[in-house]
Amino acid sequence: MNTALYIHIPFCRQKCSYCSFVSAPLDKRAPAVIAALKQEMCLYPKNTKIDTVFFGGGTPSVLENNALPQLLAAARERFILSENSEITAEANPESVTPALLAAWRAAGINRLSFGVQSANDENLRLLGRLHTFVEAKKAIRYAREAGFEHINADLIYNLPGQSTAAFEADLHALLALGIDHLSCYALSIEEGTPLAEMPLPIQDEDIAVEQWMSAGRICAQYGLHRYEVSNYAKPGAQCRHNLHYWHNDPYFGLGPAAHGARRANGCWLRTANVPDINAYLQAVFGEGTLSQSTQIGREEEQFESIMLETRTTEGLRLAAFEARYGVRFTERYKTAIDCACAQGLATLSNTHFALTERGLLLQNRVLLSFMD
Ligand code: SF4
Repeated sequence: MNTALYIHIPFCRQKCSYCSFVSAPLDKRAPAVIAALKQEMCLYPKNTKIDTVFFGGGTPSVLENNALPQLLAAARERFILSENSEITAEANPESVTPALLAAWRAAGINRLSFGVQSANDENLRLLGRLHTFVEAKKAIRYAREAGFEHINADLIYNLPGQSTAAFEADLHALLALGIDHLSCYALSIEEGTPLAEMPLPIQDEDIAVEQWMSAGRICAQYGLHRYEVSNYAKPGAQCRHNLHYWHNDPYFGLGPAAHGARRANGCWLRTANVPDINAYLQAVFGEGTLSQSTQIGREEEQFESIMLETRTTEGLRLAAFEARYGVRFTERYKTAIDCACAQGLATLSNTHFALTERGLLLQNRVLLSFMD
C-alpha cells in the first residue's frame, strides 16, 4: 500500500473572514518553516514509496517561486516518489504568476487546486478573499499556458442569502472555464471568525440540500461526475491524494497542524502536529512535542474505513476491506447493510457497498447502525 504525503504551508497573504484553518499572514518565519519541513521529512522512514504529494495550506502560492521545488527535491531525496506521482499545489488566484507556475511545473507539480470560492465579486468580498473572478479566470489561463492539464477549483455554496439560482450562476461561470475537478463545500460559519460576528441572514438547511443536488446535476452537464460527497471530476481526473484519505490509506502529514495516519509496529496511528507555527519550529529544531499520536483500535479502524469509504460514490470495496481486516464485511455488518438497503439509502453489489444520493445526504444516520 503506497503512502501519500501532505505538506502544510501555514501562510496566507491575509486571513479570510470565514477561515478557521491554521494559517498566518506571510512573515519572516517562512524560510525557517521551509527548513523545518525538510527536517521533518527525516522523521519518517527513508525510501517510503509515495504515490501522491499535496501542498496545502494556507496558501502555498504566497511563498517564493523556488520554495515548493526545494521541498519536492527534499522529498525525492528522502522518499521514493512513483514515476506517475500526482503532485498537487494549492494556489490563490491573486498570488500566481506565470513565473511561479513555470517553476512549479518544471519541478514536477502536475495538478493545481485554486481557491476560487465564488464567481461573484460581492460574495468574494464578503468572504474576505483578495481576488476577483476576473483574476481567477486569469490564473486558470496562466495555469494552462504553463502546461497544467489537471486543475481543481474550490467553490463554496449556501452563502448567506444566496439563492439557488445565484449559486447555479456561479457554478456555470466556473465550469465554463473547462476545469476537470471541482470541490464544492457548504459554507460553515465557525465561531471566532469575523464572519460569525457579522449580522447575516441565517443559512437554510433545505437550500443547502437543494444547492448540493443542483451541483451534481450541473456538473454532469459539463462532464464532471460526483465521486465523493463534495467532489466532482471528469473521467480519470479524480484526486488520487484525497482518495488516499477516503480509502483510509496511510499518509504522512508535515507542517504545523498537519494530520497523518500510518501503521507503526502493527498499530494504526493517527498523528496531529502542534498547530502553532512557533511551537512547531521549536519542536523541530529544539525541544517540545511535535506531534500527538493516537493509537486506533482494530474495531475503530474498521469503522473509520466504513465512514471514509462510504463518502465516495464508488462505495466501500468489499475485497479490500476483507484483505485489510480479515473480516467479511457483508457478514460482520449484515444487519446494518440490510437496514440501509431496505431504506433506499445504500446498494450492495458483489464488489461494493455504496450509498445512494439520499444515503450520502443522510450518511450519519447510516453510520449509526454500523456502530454496534
Ligand atoms: S486562503 Fe484559505 S487558508 Fe488562507 S485565510 Fe483564506 S481560507 Fe484560510
